[in-house]
Amino acid sequence: MTVGIVVVSHSRPLADAAVALATEMVRGDAGFIVSASGVDDGGFGTDAVAIGEAITRVDTGDGVVVLMDLGSAVLSAETALEFVDDATRERTLLCPAPLVEGLVAAAVAAGSGAPAAEVAAEAGGALDGKLSHLDAPAGAEAPAAVESAQPGPDAAAAGPVPPVPAGTSADGVHTGRFTVSLPHGLHARPAAVVVQAVRGLDARVSLRNATLDTAPVDAAGLSRVATLGALKGHEVEVSATGPDAGAAVDALLTLARDGFGESAPAPPTVSDVPAGRPVPAAPGIGIGPARPRTAAEVVPPGPRPGPPGDHWKRVERARERVRGDLTRVRDRAAREIGAAEAGIFDAQLAMLDDPELVEAIRSDVDRGTDAARAWIDAIGAVERQFAAVEDEYLAARVADVRDLRDRVLRALGGTVSAGPAADGVLVADDLTLTEATELDPARTAAVLLAHGSPTAHSVILLRARGIPAVVGAASLVERAREGTTVVLDGSTGEVVLDPDPPTLADFRDRARALARRRADALSHADEPAVTTDGTTVLVGANLGSTQDARDATGADLAGLVRTEFCFLGRREAPTVDEQEADYRAIAEAMAGRCVTLRTLDVGGDKPLGYLPQSAEANPFLGVRGLRLALARPELLADQLEAIVRVAHDHPADVMFPMVATLDELTAARGMLRQAVARVGRGEPDLRVGIMVEVPAAALKAPVFAPHVDFLSIGTNDLTQYALAAERGNEALAALADPLDPGVLALIAAAGAVAGPDLLVAVCGEMAADEAAVPLLLGLGVRELSVAPAAVAGVKKAVRGVDVATARDLAARALAAPDAAAVRALLGQNGAGGRA
Ligand code: PEP
Ligand code: MG
Repeated sequence: MTVGIVVVSHSRPLADAAVALATEMVRGDAGFIVSASGVDDGGFGTDAVAIGEAITRVDTGDGVVVLMDLGSAVLSAETALEFVDDATRERTLLCPAPLVEGLVAAAVAAGSGAPAAEVAAEAGGALDGKLSHLDAPAGAEAPAAVESAQPGPDAAAAGPVPPVPAGTSADGVHTGRFTVSLPHGLHARPAAVVVQAVRGLDARVSLRNATLDTAPVDAAGLSRVATLGALKGHEVEVSATGPDAGAAVDALLTLARDGFGESAPAPPTVSDVPAGRPVPAAPGIGIGPARPRTAAEVVPPGPRPGPPGDHWKRVERARERVRGDLTRVRDRAAREIGAAEAGIFDAQLAMLDDPELVEAIRSDVDRGTDAARAWIDAIGAVERQFAAVEDEYLAARVADVRDLRDRVLRALGGTVSAGPAADGVLVADDLTLTEATELDPARTAAVLLAHGSPTAHSVILLRARGIPAVVGAASLVERAREGTTVVLDGSTGEVVLDPDPPTLADFRDRARALARRRADALSHADEPAVTTDGTTVLVGANLGSTQDARDATGADLAGLVRTEFCFLGRREAPTVDEQEADYRAIAEAMAGRCVTLRTLDVGGDKPLGYLPQSAEANPFLGVRGLRLALARPELLADQLEAIVRVAHDHPADVMFPMVATLDELTAARGMLRQAVARVGRGEPDLRVGIMVEVPAAALKAPVFAPHVDFLSIGTNDLTQYALAAERGNEALAALADPLDPGVLALIAAAGAVAGPDLLVAVCGEMAADEAAVPLLLGLGVRELSVAPAAVAGVKKAVRGVDVATARDLAARALAAPDAAAVRALLGQNGAGGRA
């Protein structure tokens, strides 16, 4: 079930921004939210006809919730109901919730399959978080001078995970089995994903760790799932009953195959480094006065009189308030550090609503126990379950459970014995998630923890927020007195208390050098990247959402828009209108800079539920990319039509993925011509290119050259195909090196056809390797498209390159025996390189 949501605002940009925010909350899967806002001349206003159309568009039969801003927006929405058919009108709820908060709450509810009334009710209660927050404003602390320099968050992405066995069904019980491939097992965040997936379904789903032969646990209860003790390599059995049992098993197997949405590479664990030594946890140099903090103890409120009903109401109110607070913190984290990291709070939210936990409190309260006592007992049991698991990563989640315990206790009237200090170098035993989110990076030079782990969520957040950190430094923490100067290097784990002048000077130098490098790159991010000998190189951003487009500071263009984002996580393919809206939103966010829209690149390894494909022994060599699009021409026809519509109003290019033969390109171009004719607005200014990802295509670059405006080399796939080393297979990580001279020879073959009328670009991860920039330019590449956060650094690297010297470097690299030798050359070359 997916309830549609229509946003009605007087201002189109306001509505678009609100929709983008809500989209983050549902991890980009927000095709069910549309805006009908502003009026066509770009001014303020609302249009009842447009609202009616939007309602009809999102009504899939499950109902529609309409959220409005003020005054006449409400009247227009009411009028709009006259323009929709009776059945749709019946199913449409005009919701009086506040627009932004209501939309976010409604999106999350609808995204997890709640019915329309529940979606509207969630939206209606959306102000609770803000209300409770403003009831208890946080105390401001005086800022102190701190110094810090941090590199940006690691932009590297992990690859796919191994496949899972298919599900089976017998006697009404649907079963399936998957192997946990996550480096840290089925820990709290993926467990929250499991809970969210099954909660919306009409099924009773249980999981058991077959490797450890545990008893089955309820998949709708976060603490249960996370404490299955399912580590990497363990087999987990899924069984489900009820009308949606099959869908539940399928959903979990698909999630397992996709790594439960985990994409960041695993950071090192404490056990990776020798015991007793401080552990580097978040890179960067921190210098500042020590600000020791004893853990803030929450003193529970004293027992209160009253019947069980009153105590239960207090529990409910406290949970509601904490739910609001957590949602607020999560929203903030999503804004600052991205939806993936903010997903950490989903685990706490799911824990808060864990049916088993709630049931335990309820029955305790019914037996006459005080509200706070019942909460402490129930959450204490969860804490013990986590602490008992013999896995360092899961054990680290205990801090998250304690954080939740304290939040609810405070909401129940508990008092805090000591507050955190946050200016200078924060020195503490450990850090809760909330404290990590609420630290001000401008005032926190670094964090030094006695305990903690690089994999604790709080530390993951520090990394993402650019706050240097060292953990596992108990003896140093013990010795750090208030005001003692602390210097630390979060990349190496070096920590010095009260440093002597030469040591302090050395750390200051390191901090300055790091800050200079980063600031310099950022301050010139908006300027073109021109080599020392005057060659302009375009540096673009790779985008997978509208938010990415907003983050693309300094990008000259979007060199790759992965349009999969609007096809994934849906029950049916997006319509032309829906795609147009998505692409338009990206083009608008890029504000006049060209967007390179890559047509759908799914299939085989990335199947879509609504595009059933036969099983393939080697999906990476199967029906994927353009092959799939040509096999399902109706899909490609729709997508091209949406692209053409956008190209009439914004600078846009179209790019076809996984092209192997000229025939494929010819067929695709033919369909593009038909799309242009269907749109009927004449020839758009639309350049056409292909991705060079198949080795044969690289070698046949001269064959493709007369038929394209650009070639964009996808080094991720090109490397896997050239070296027959599956991308993302950890065991082959060292082999799958794009600097292998064999891969370079393929890049050179494509680069050789570059000319004034034919641009050769690289949009694979290799383009973000600043050391490889001179090499790529030497091979003929003139456009590099990278993750938004890498744009400034890559531009800086380009500015250090002399093309003639780079050509010489490229020639030597092509003659090198292996990737290691190429790396050595890059370290030595005089053409520029490491920024
Ligand atoms: C590539 O293969 O290098 C590429 C950019 O495409 P994707 O990573 O989306 O497969
Ligand atoms: Mg690719």
